[in-house]
Amino acid sequence: MSEEYQGKRSWAEPYKIKVVEPIKMTTREYREQAIKEAGYNTFLLRSDDVYIDLLTDSGTNAMSDRQWAGIMLGDEAYAGSRNFYYLEDNVRKYYGMPYFVPTHQGRAAEHMISRILIKPGDYIPGNMYFTTTRAHQELAGGIFVDVIIDEAHDPEDEHPFKGNVDIAKLDALVERVGAAKIPYVCMAGPVNMAGGQPFSMENLRAVKAWCDKHSVRLWFDATRATENAYFIKQREAGYQDKTIAEILKEICSCFEGLWISAKKDLMVNIGGFLATRDAEVFEKARNMVVLFEGLHTYGGLAGRDMEAMARGIEEMVDYDTIRARIGQVEYCGRQLERFGVPIVRPIGGHAVFLDAKKILAHIPQEQFPAQTLTAEIYIDSGVRSMERGIVSAGRDKDTGQDKKPELELVRLTFPRRVYTQAHIDVMVESIANVYQNRKKVRGLKMVYEPEFLRFFQARFERV
Ligand SMILES: *Cc1c(COP(=O)(O)O)cnc(C)c1O
Repeated sequence: MSEEYQGKRSWAEPYKIKVVEPIKMTTREYREQAIKEAGYNTFLLRSDDVYIDLLTDSGTNAMSDRQWAGIMLGDEAYAGSRNFYYLEDNVRKYYGMPYFVPTHQGRAAEHMISRILIKPGDYIPGNMYFTTTRAHQELAGGIFVDVIIDEAHDPEDEHPFKGNVDIAKLDALVERVGAAKIPYVCMAGPVNMAGGQPFSMENLRAVKAWCDKHSVRLWFDATRATENAYFIKQREAGYQDKTIAEILKEICSCFEGLWISAKKDLMVNIGGFLATRDAEVFEKARNMVVLFEGLHTYGGLAGRDMEAMARGIEEMVDYDTIRARIGQVEYCGRQLERFGVPIVRPIGGHAVFLDAKKILAHIPQEQFPAQTLTAEIYIDSGVRSMERGIVSAGRDKDTGQDKKPELELVRLTFPRRVYTQAHIDVMVESIANVYQNRKKVRGLKMVYEPEFLRFFQARFERV
């Protein structure tokens, strides 16, 4: 009767817990009240009322003991802090960019690059959009154009690189508006809005060749580039034996410049930067950062923050670290599939995306099915997730009408090195429960809508 060992080895995290932070346990009645008071918007909940927080992986990471130790080495000089030079060295070494300007977050870098490169009426093609990226492109007078492959819009398509650019869509754009109206092509990967889907090196090379042919710049939102490098290693022929650092460097070599939110890959709680090989753009950014962020050797950050970032870069390219990070997301996705819960396939790099359109098929898009699902999951177990559907998509700048995205998703995003497998099991059981009782769920109506990035602050009531 004895179970035989089948030679299969589980893997576990390459770290152990040294400090713990207790979390509050609440009742269903308590959570019903809390989400009502928050206008059925999980962004407006108090974090103290959340049990497992999967709202975002942005700045919610657990730093290593090495990073915390580095915090004590902060050189808080106004100018020329030693931590700045260490970070600059690592940006050169790992991203291969000679020039760099620190910023307090990714969106500050997006603000600067949009102001520097975009003229009103320009078109900026991108492999789908990211909220803050597109907002800054539009603020600078640009018009975003989605050039991601069609497969990205189908949550069931198993394409291994759903973050790829469709070159035919770039051709169509240049035919329509002319290359002079396209200041740069903007790539990101893995693509958050498509469900954390990577682009391939082969596709990146094709995009670069297209850009060279049309004398259009190519810029990179490298916020999650390490995750993209991991997928390339897993899925693309010829990359199995390359290190994450080598692949990252190869990716970055195709771009004229990049920006990042350090709150993701770098496993810190705050930070960002802009880096480039274009001396002219650098000169402008270095000047602009003084206006909006601070001197170019701190850019809105403390010296200690830059030290934690520099150390984070060294940790993020460690294979076991990135494998454990993506492995945890994959574990969650596979467990949800066991309960039959519809999710976006393939499972993404930083998050599992629930297909709210399918789960709450009886709720029309005008009643915000994904927003509704986030509220139901919170009420069931105190798990906090995020809407990525019609609320996040916002309104069309010209018509004022709601943009109606094909995907209506709920994102379960994993902070790095924060939760255990037992947390995931509890969360999966809760979502399975909500899924089983989905027919009883009613939709929402929006009762307050802010002007910019409405998903952060909008308020809802039950219909
Ligand atoms: C988080 C993020 C940003 C914005 O960065 P912040 O640090 O939140 O300002 C931009 N692009 C991508 C892909 C991101 O994930």
